[in-house]
Amino acid sequence: MDSLSNPSDTFRSGFVALIGRPNVGKSTLVNQLVGEKVAITSPVAQTTRNRLRAILTTPKAQMVLVDTPGIHKPHHLLGERLVQSARAAIGEVDLVLLLLEGCEPPGRGDAFIVQLLRQQQLPVLVALNKWDRVSETQHDQAEEAYRQLLADSSWPLMRCSATSGEGCNGLIEALVEQLPQGPQLYPPEMICDQPERVLLAELIREQVLLHTREEVPHSVAVSIDRVEEMPVSNKRSARQGRTAVLATVLVERKSQKGILIGKGGSMLKTIGQGARLQMQTLIDGPVYLELFVKVVPDWRCKPARLAELGYEGK
Ligand code: GDP
Ligand code: MG
Repeated sequence: MDSLSNPSDTFRSGFVALIGRPNVGKSTLVNQLVGEKVAITSPVAQTTRNRLRAILTTPKAQMVLVDTPGIHKPHHLLGERLVQSARAAIGEVDLVLLLLEGCEPPGRGDAFIVQLLRQQQLPVLVALNKWDRVSETQHDQAEEAYRQLLADSSWPLMRCSATSGEGCNGLIEALVEQLPQGPQLYPPEMICDQPERVLLAELIREQVLLHTREEVPHSVAVSIDRVEEMPVSNKRSARQGRTAVLATVLVERKSQKGILIGKGGSMLKTIGQGARLQMQTLIDGPVYLELFVKVVPDWRCKPARLAELGYEGK
């Protein structure tokens, strides 16, 4: 074969699903690998709701990283949709990056995922994430525990830290090696396949997750009602020359609405300010953000509502 004579013959491309328990750092790793924030992350488990594709282009390859909601036991319709979507992602990709929490011993959730992946005929690469939190004296022991979990699989095992970036270049190289040969699928400057509206909504949801506790986070959905470029005019207005974003935060109960608004609107103000700053980085310009809070009882259990908010069924 003379495939070396033409560089396009050696270019690799494909889809990589990031699979792992909630909170192992899948979204953080996606952001670290593409070098920009496309996925929201949080200390609260089950943050990721939409399947998001981030695109990483190198001189030799292009990979589409599919960030998935963590695989866990579903408790209500939204939970089921999340698990369906993670399972569906496994069926659509060339390669799986299984992310495990290197700083914790393997748990039953991990065994469940390993089992699920064994049933597929897909190449799998395993990365022990949060390696920055494993002390040097524990390195061998931590890795050994995971080797036992993976037992007789031939899956390569790597270490990385999605927050510090340690081990991430090696991870990219190893992923590229396992990709099939193929053409560039997206323009090289494109890093995310989601429309800006989805990213904007996610930035608001991220602030809600950061600032509220307990039952509120999982009861929240955000819809972006309008995005508009406001022209500069003579009339003095907070919106002029800015991108105006009007959004509604949906909650399930009146009490949650109260928490989100806060004393004298203080909580909503904090959430709005945080989201606005993040949006300005995303849009690369000034943003005017107006937030509304609306109670929609049990939206998580209503198929029509879920579809409207982008959580598709099968
Ligand atoms: P996901 O549910 O798998 O998408 O997890 P996230 O990406 O939302 O991360 C969950 C939490 O773990 C966040 O608070 C992250 O900052 C943290 N985290 C993710 N990766 C690392 C890592 O490599 N090291 C440390 N110390 N924390 C991490
Ligand atoms: Mg996530």
